[in-house]
Amino acid sequence: MSEVPEKHIGEAGSHKQRESETASLPDQVGNVGRRTSEELVDDICASLGKSHKSLGPLEKVYVFWLAGMSCDGCTVSVTGATEPALEDLLTGSIPGVPLVVLHHYVLQLESGDHYMQSLLKAEQGELDGPYVIAYEGSIPDENLTAGGAPFAGEGSLPLWAPSEERRRVSTAEWVKRLAPGAAAMIAVGTCATWGGIPAAYGNVTGSMSVMDFLGKDYRSVLGLPVINIPGCAPVGDNFTDAVQAILLFLQGLGPLPEFDELGRPAWQFSETVHRRCVRAGYYEEGTFAKEYGDPECLVEIGCWGPVVQCNITEKGAVAHMGGCMNAGGPCIGCTMPGFPDKFSPFYKSPPGSLFSSNASRVLGSIVRPLAESASASATARFAGTRQCQAAGQWRKATFRSRTRFWNSFTRRCSFKARSVPNDTAPKTNLRQATKACLNACMAKIIRCFPNSVGGKQRREANTKEEKNEQTNEYCRLVDGDWN
Ligand code: SF4
Repeated sequence: MSEVPEKHIGEAGSHKQRESETASLPDQVGNVGRRTSEELVDDICASLGKSHKSLGPLEKVYVFWLAGMSCDGCTVSVTGATEPALEDLLTGSIPGVPLVVLHHYVLQLESGDHYMQSLLKAEQGELDGPYVIAYEGSIPDENLTAGGAPFAGEGSLPLWAPSEERRRVSTAEWVKRLAPGAAAMIAVGTCATWGGIPAAYGNVTGSMSVMDFLGKDYRSVLGLPVINIPGCAPVGDNFTDAVQAILLFLQGLGPLPEFDELGRPAWQFSETVHRRCVRAGYYEEGTFAKEYGDPECLVEIGCWGPVVQCNITEKGAVAHMGGCMNAGGPCIGCTMPGFPDKFSPFYKSPPGSLFSSNASRVLGSIVRPLAESASASATARFAGTRQCQAAGQWRKATFRSRTRFWNSFTRRCSFKARSVPNDTAPKTNLRQATKACLNACMAKIIRCFPNSVGGKQRREANTKEEKNEQTNEYCRLVDGDWN
C-alpha cells in the first residue's frame, strides 16, 4: 500500500495545483481573483516556502468573526495585534499552533453568498476542523425591530436564491445556530462581554452581552463558558494571545489557560491599571495633574486606574506603544462590568479618590524629597567614579546646597550601609548623621547670615571666588570632613 504523504500547508492549496473552489460558482462583487481567503493563505505559505507540519491533533481551526452592535473598534485592535500578530496565526507561523482560518467580513476575499456558505457548512458539521466564534459588539433584542430587518445582520438565506425569496439573517440568529457546535465562544470587547455602550442607560435596542444572550448554562463543545476579553476597544494582543494559548493547550503543547470568575484570561486581567502605570511614581509622590496634558498622575481628573483591571499599561495599544495613560488619557474603566454607566460622568474624580490622593499627598511630602535627594546623591556620587570622571566635573558647578544637605543625610542613613565603588568616606550611624547634618545646617546659616544682613550690595560683592570657596566647603562637609 502506498504511503500517504504528510500534508503541508502550501502544497494542497497551491494555485498551480488546484482550481479555486469558487471557480464554478456565480461571480462575486469585488473578488476579481475568484480565490478564497484560505486558498490565498495557502499560496502565501507556498510562496514563502513554508512547510507547516502540525505538531498536534489539530491541523486547522476555523474562526468565525461575527459583529452585532459594534463600532468595529475591536476589529481595528485585533488586526493591529503584534504578540502574536494576526498574520502569524493566519499563516501558521507560530510553532505548534494550528493554522487559523479566519472568516471576517472585512478581511475576507469572498463576498456575498460565497462568504456566507462557510457559516452554513459550520452549522451542518461539514468543515474539516473545529470552529470558534468570536463575537464583537453587543447582541440586540431583534424582537424590537420594526418590519423584521435586523439591527445587526449578516447575509441572507437561502443562499443563491432570488432576492424576493430571501430573508436577512441577524448575527444573533447566527450565534444561536452556531454556538452549540463551537469549540469555544469568545466575546471580544466590552459590548460583547458586558453589554457596553449599546446597553447603557436607555438601551432602546435591548442590547445585551453574549453571556446574557446565551444564558449562564451555556457551554461550548469543549465545556467552556463564554470567554470574555473586555475593553473598548480591547487590547488586540489580548485576543490573539488568548486564541494562541487555547490552541496550544488543545495541541497538548501548552498548559491549561486560566480564566477568572468573569471568564477573562486570568493572566491578562489580574492586575490593576495603576500597578503598571507609567505615572504611578507621581501617585506615590503625591503629585497630581491639574489639567489634561500635565505629566503627573491623572487620578484627580478622572482616572479609575487604581480599581480597574486591565493590562493596557503593560501592553500599550499597539506593540507596547500608546495606551490610555501613556497618551495622557485617564482610565475610564472601559474593561469593567457596568461600563459606561457606573463610571460616568467621565473625567471627574472617582469616588474615594479624594481620600486616597490626599493620603498620597501627605506621604508623598516625605517620600518625594527623600527620593529626590537620594537620586541627586546617587548621581553626584557615582558621577566622578572611575567610569565617568568627566561627568563628575559638572558636580562642582551644579551641586546646590539644599541637595547637599539632603545628600549628606541620606548618605549617612542609607548609602553608607552599601558598598559603593571608590567610596572612601567614613561609615557613620544615624546619630552621627543627624549631628553632621545639623552641623552642615549651622554652617550654612552662619555663612548665609552675613550676606543677608549686608543686603543686595553685599551679596553682589560675593565674588565668584567666594562662591567657589563656599562650594568647596560644602563639598568637604558632604565628603565627611566634619571637624
Ligand atoms: Fe494610577 Fe491613573 Fe494615576 Fe496612572 S494615572 S498612576 S493609573 S491613578
